[in-house]
Amino acid sequence: MSFHPARDDERFQEGRSQPLDVSSNQLFLSAPIPIMIEDWSRVYAAIMDLRAKGITDIDAWFDAHPFAVAELRMLHSFVEANNAVVELFEAGSKAAFFERAKQLLPADRTSNIAVYRAMFEGRNACQGERTLVTFSGKRVPIVWRCSLPGHADGYRRLCFYGFDVTEQKESNDRMQAMRAEMARSARVSLFGEVAASILHEISQPLSATRTSADAALRWLGNDTPHIAEATESIRDAARWARDATEICRRIRGFLGKVPVRSVSSSVNDAVDAAFFLVSPEANSKGIVIESHLDENLAIFADPVQIQQVLANLLLNGIHAIDARDGAERNLTVFARKADSGEALFEVRDTGAGMSGETLASLFQPFFTTKVNGMGMGLVVARSIVEAHGGRIWAESATQLGTSFFFTLPVSDASESGN
Ligand code: ADP
Repeated sequence: MSFHPARDDERFQEGRSQPLDVSSNQLFLSAPIPIMIEDWSRVYAAIMDLRAKGITDIDAWFDAHPFAVAELRMLHSFVEANNAVVELFEAGSKAAFFERAKQLLPADRTSNIAVYRAMFEGRNACQGERTLVTFSGKRVPIVWRCSLPGHADGYRRLCFYGFDVTEQKESNDRMQAMRAEMARSARVSLFGEVAASILHEISQPLSATRTSADAALRWLGNDTPHIAEATESIRDAARWARDATEICRRIRGFLGKVPVRSVSSSVNDAVDAAFFLVSPEANSKGIVIESHLDENLAIFADPVQIQQVLANLLLNGIHAIDARDGAERNLTVFARKADSGEALFEVRDTGAGMSGETLASLFQPFFTTKVNGMGMGLVVARSIVEAHGGRIWAESATQLGTSFFFTLPVSDASESGN
């Protein structure tokens, strides 16, 4: 079914209706909160039409009719604005504001649908968020709220209250950035310590191996080779090399001891938690992160560790997108049930991609192509995924982007039937 608003001139006349008496109301004009009065009566009639036609799921209807929001917006008009609105938009005067009101407050899909939905469901209030652009080009995030009347006539004068939330948003962003920074530095310092201790433990037997091998060469290089001494030195070298291997085994054992505390959780929760950590970094670089998840899918995994895996892959994606400087700056997480019965995650970026050589070395400890890279992120990601009984791999094409895939056990709580 498609939406066909009545196309008579009157219904399509968009703009400002006759000012109401309220403009003379000093209380309204000088209220410290931006208040817009808008005429939504024809929009209301159109929404009621939809109900009368038997539409029951308004969100699905809007999904199926992508132009309906803009068409409905044409049935709406601005009636009045108080001084705080003029100030908010840095318009200078009310006349200047109304001259550009349509451009300043264009249809906003999410905000508008919030109102349509509330009308459709007969609610008595609605609210939402949107970002406004002022006369000087400044972007102002606002939270708006509107009370909805119980009768059609009331829709001729809907009052929208706007609250500038720039400060709250900035401090929220700062807090998120701090959290991401803390998560990152915790990761870096942990890897730093691990790397330093591995180097410390291993450098001694390695240099002893080398000293013994050098000695063996010297014994063999004499005019009369000293076979017995050379053999002894080679034996020493082999013993030191075994020590180094043993140290590596112990370190691996130690790292592997991080217990996996698996619980059932939805893939949504896992992805949300990782998005929470990386979104400040993505926002600051103009990268859009989104997810396409099988909502019914639940995993049986350690939430903190999976958050670490996803955050690592997402941060790498952000760096790769930033390194490419391309027009497409998208980072997407997909999760679905694979044919094998496991949960299959994909972290896909539109970044610089990587060469075959890089692709082959990805999961090697300390492999990095970044100036400040540690080269341990993917090593840890792999050890976590494998400790859960899963697999991790990557597919990439230079200049086209990269996808990292990993699998995890599905929880019994999963409702996904495929
Ligand atoms: P680091 O991020 O410290 O370099 P990682 O182990 O996380 O360590 O990554 C190792 C290397 O793998 C990176 O330096 C980079 O060369 C490559 N890499 C990882 N993810 C991506 C990606 N999404 N796109 C391109 N290259 C990547």
